[in-house]
Amino acid sequence: MRIILLGAPGVGKGTQALLLARALNVPQISTGDMLRAAVQAQTSLGLDAKSFMDSGRLVPDEIIIDLAVDRIKQPDCAHGFIFDGFPRTLAQAQALHEKDVAIDHVIEIKVSDEDIIRRLSGRRIHQPSGRIYHVDFDPPHTPGKDNHTGEDLIQREDDKEVTIRKRLHVYRDQTEPLVAYYQQALPSGGLTPQFHCISGTGDVAQIQGEILGLLGR
Ligand code: AMP
Repeated sequence: MRIILLGAPGVGKGTQALLLARALNVPQISTGDMLRAAVQAQTSLGLDAKSFMDSGRLVPDEIIIDLAVDRIKQPDCAHGFIFDGFPRTLAQAQALHEKDVAIDHVIEIKVSDEDIIRRLSGRRIHQPSGRIYHVDFDPPHTPGKDNHTGEDLIQREDDKEVTIRKRLHVYRDQTEPLVAYYQQALPSGGLTPQFHCISGTGDVAQIQGEILGLLGR
């Protein structure tokens, strides 16, 4: 099961990828999480990536392709993986194909722009634990404070509304062309993945059930 989850920021790719990873017993590979860990650890990759991420732009292809391709060479990917947030440009998708990384399923998750802005701009994070809240849908007991420690919650720099709009623009411009790319047979033979599209609006468990159904599980 080698799966790509495709969709704009905020459609719930990360949530669904995590559930799917558990259900299929394969790792979730989020290039966004890998980059955030590198930023936190202040590695040279993190230092290079930070300004792109904070402003809602994509990190250059040559950095991200090596990161993703090296990751799936790890032994835990032997039976498959779920890419969450990769590939995000045609060059990244073509690099996978050229490196003979076969993909079985591509699942596009769709949510309206207004819903995405509401979801992301209300998100708050307790950085030390990774706990996530939402000012409307899952508010902390005390506004701005973590329920368990009472410490401050933060808003990710790229979850500010102006940056979300920029990220949506970048998605339409650079990532959406992958929908057409994966809907047709891939060039020069090789396995063409099955393409599916679902709505990301509604109950998390129900969407997960729908995805598992598409995968024949
Ligand atoms: P995410 O958490 O997946 O939304 O990723 C956060 C940020 O990391 C993005 O806005 C990009 O700046 C960067 N990033 C993550 N994945 C990629 C990718 N495949 N290509 C380029 N940049 C990426």
